[in-house]
Amino acid sequence: PSKPDKAQLQEVIDCARATYINLDEGENASYIPFLARVPRYLCGLSIATLDGDIISAGDTDYRFAIESISKVATLALALEDVGPDAVQKKVGADPTGLPFNSVMALELHNGKPLSPLVNAGAISTVSLVEAADREERWARILLMQRKLTGGDIVLSSEVNGSEQTTNFHNRAISWLLYSAEALYCDPMEACDIYTRQCSTLVDTRDLAVMAATLAGGGVNPLTGEQVLSADRTSPKVLAEMMMEGLYTSSGDWAYSVGLPGKSGVGGGVLAVVPGIMGIAAFSPPLDDAGNSVRGQKMIGKVASALDYNLFSTR
Ligand code: GLN
Repeated sequence: PSKPDKAQLQEVIDCARATYINLDEGENASYIPFLARVPRYLCGLSIATLDGDIISAGDTDYRFAIESISKVATLALALEDVGPDAVQKKVGADPTGLPFNSVMALELHNGKPLSPLVNAGAISTVSLVEAADREERWARILLMQRKLTGGDIVLSSEVNGSEQTTNFHNRAISWLLYSAEALYCDPMEACDIYTRQCSTLVDTRDLAVMAATLAGGGVNPLTGEQVLSADRTSPKVLAEMMMEGLYTSSGDWAYSVGLPGKSGVGGGVLAVVPGIMGIAAFSPPLDDAGNSVRGQKMIGKVASALDYNLFSTR
C-alpha cells in the first residue's frame, strides 16, 4: 500500500474510534482490585510511524497499567542478554492454547512454559535477565520499558500494592517452575519482579512507540536510539507475539488482523506493522480471553483500512 500522510492517518483512527466507542461489551479485569475500578468508557487509539510522528484519538494521555504488555519488553531484554537459542530452549516459542495464567502447559510439557507471553513463561523470562540481585533485575527491566516507549515509565505503588497482595496464583506458578528447573533465580524474586513489571503506568502513545520500535527493528523512532540489536531481537519478539500475543485468541487475531499483537488485562493492546508503524489502543473492558474488546476492534479496523496484513501481498 502507498504511504499515507498524517491527515489520512488521523482520519483513519478517528473513524475506527468512532465506530467502536459505543460498543459496550466485556468487563474490566476483576481479579486485580485496581483494574476493576478504571472507568470502562475510556477509549484511546494511537499510531506511531517510523518517521517519529504520533497520531492520536481519544483518551491517549490516560495512564493505565501495562500488565502483560510488559512481557514484550522483558522478552526483548532476555533475548539481548542470553540470545534467541537459550530463550527458545528454556522458555519456548509455541502457543499454549490455554488461558494466560494456566498451569496446565507446565504439566503437559515437563515444566516447560512454551511461551514467554503467558504468565509461566514470562516469570521464567524474568529469571533469565542478567542481574546481580533483585533490584538490578528490576532496574534493567524498567529501563527497557523506558527505552522501548521513549516515555518516563514509573512503577505505580497503587497497582503494585494491589497485585502483590493478590498474586497467589502467580506465586504458585513460580514454585511449579522452580520444581521443574525452569526458573533461573529465586522463585519469589522472579514473581516479585514480574508483578512489578506488570504494575507500571503507560499511556496509549507510549505503547504505540513501543510497537513502532519493534516495527523499526529495534530503533525507537521518537528518541532515535538503537534499543535492540538490529535484526536479531525484534523478529524473535514479533514471532512470539504472532503465536501467543492475544492468548487463546491469538489464532483469531492472526486470521482477522494478520499482525503481531500483544494485549494486557489493563485494557491496552498493541500491534506491529513491520517496517512501517506501531498501532496501540486502550479501553478497559475485556473479552473472555482477557483482551480489550474495543482495542482489538479498533486496531483491526485501522489495519484493514490501511491494507496492512503480514499475510497479504498488496
Ligand atoms: N499481572 C497480571 C497477571 O499476572 C497480568 C496478566 C495479563 O495482563 N494477562 O495476572
